[in-house]
Amino acid sequence: MPNTTHIPTDAVLDITVNMGNAASPKVSGEGKDSTILIVGGGTWGISIAYRLAQRGYTNITVLDPNDIFSSVAAGNDLNKILEEPISPPLPEQDDDTYAWATIEKLASEVWTTDPIYKPHYHPSGFVYSAVGEDAWARVRAEGERHGEVYTPLKDAEAFRKTMPEGVLTGDFAGWKGFFRQQRAGWVEARDALADITTEAKRLGVRFTTGAMEGRVTKLLYSDLGDAITGAKTEDGKEHLAETTILSAGATSSVLLDFEDQLRPTAWTLAHVPLEPSEVELYSDLPVLFGADRGFFISPPKSSIMAGKAELKICDEHPGYINLIPTAKGGKKPVPYQRNAIPRASELKIRQLLRETMPQLADRPLLRPRLCWDADTPNRLFLISRHPKLDNLVVAAGGSGHGFMCSPAVGILVGDLLEETIEERVRRTLGWRPETAVGRDWFATQGRFGGSGGVVDLGTVGEGDWFGDDSK
Ligand SMILES: Cc1cc2nc3c(=O)[nH]c(=O)nc-3n(C[C@H](O)[C@H](O)[C@H](O)COP(=O)(O)OP(=O)(O)OC[C@H]3O[C@@H](n4cnc5c(N)ncnc54)[C@H](O)[C@@H]3O)c2cc1C
Repeated sequence: MPNTTHIPTDAVLDITVNMGNAASPKVSGEGKDSTILIVGGGTWGISIAYRLAQRGYTNITVLDPNDIFSSVAAGNDLNKILEEPISPPLPEQDDDTYAWATIEKLASEVWTTDPIYKPHYHPSGFVYSAVGEDAWARVRAEGERHGEVYTPLKDAEAFRKTMPEGVLTGDFAGWKGFFRQQRAGWVEARDALADITTEAKRLGVRFTTGAMEGRVTKLLYSDLGDAITGAKTEDGKEHLAETTILSAGATSSVLLDFEDQLRPTAWTLAHVPLEPSEVELYSDLPVLFGADRGFFISPPKSSIMAGKAELKICDEHPGYINLIPTAKGGKKPVPYQRNAIPRASELKIRQLLRETMPQLADRPLLRPRLCWDADTPNRLFLISRHPKLDNLVVAAGGSGHGFMCSPAVGILVGDLLEETIEERVRRTLGWRPETAVGRDWFATQGRFGGSGGVVDLGTVGEGDWFGDDSK
């Protein structure tokens, strides 16, 4: 079905900001027993709920259409890359660098010390590489800037030696890169979220899930339309709260007008099954990341123990978007779920395997899926009070780094509520629609690979997909 438009069932094409709701008075109050409603129980929603509960907030409800954790959550994945910061935040850094360094510092402190997170972190190393000239220019600049942690990989043999013999058997033709052996690797994503959720529940967080009970259809507005008083779910129930936190990932911009600050963008992944006899060899490997090729990550312990060890493989590209028409005659990107990937992505995944691990290149690729995140124009997170709507906090715009940084998101949202967030960080991560005026939805935003550009899924013909949506 080429040139079709996929509209999610809960899409709102033009969002009216002032939706006065006679039944809902404007409310406020942020004591530890005040009511807090978290819309979206994915990676960030769970992290926020956990952190607020840990700080003593006693009245937190999380809404999500899917059981926790949601099958569509970007974080519901076997594993994710984690790189610890190389530089601390320094006063002389520009605002963006300072905010990134702060986020990474907060997150890595949690991953390396918090008893819930730490067991899920594997600092097994990170191969940072590229093939094409534009991607290599980016990788080389980063590798040379931080020569204290990155060792250059001068040839194919150097690449092969980053992992046990028998893993990287490919010829690595044209590959160039660096190896970071310490303070980088991967985390068991789903298993970490499971433990964080269990702990959040133990601390009293309530999770309301289900297609009817948990799917938010609209935010509720005060009579004057100047505050958010909660959210309404598909079953018609109104959940009133003194503070509403919108953390619905790529779907956030369907529920609120983000003034184009969020671009729902999909990337693609699939899994290569391992034979029992191969599990030991492929366990706890460094991450191999090719900035224009893709990456793979070792299986988590839980899947090995369940006899379902798989390598997760992502191809790297600027991303896919799904543009739909707006009532005003424009177009805007919205996410939709699909357990399949464009055939071009499948071929790229096989290319990555052929160049690095040809022994796996012809294996079945299991559970391919589109995975949605939301990009801000500068790929820095959007963690902010809404400037015009009281009692609303937004936490969205993971921009490809939102898993490893998720512990920091919980901390920063807590600091925002308690007004202890550092002013410079608050400003940099704040509501900034001026950065999205006239936004080019096809901007590559520093990403490489694939066709070299962002692709509209509406241009992918139905015969050009790989995978079975029913699985
Ligand atoms: C292929 C891929 C690979 C990635 N790899 C990495 C990596 O290696 N390292 C890294 O740090 N980051 C990585 N990321 C980015 C990271 O996964 C995301 O930035 C992060 O998970 C975003 O978290 P989130 O909570 O904003 O969104 P999500 O985790 O997607 O959660 C959104 C939640 O909102 C819920 N929701 C949706 N609609 C509604 C509604 N109407 N009402 C209520 N709830 C709703 C969903 O069910 C879901 O649970 C990757 C992303 C992708 C796509």
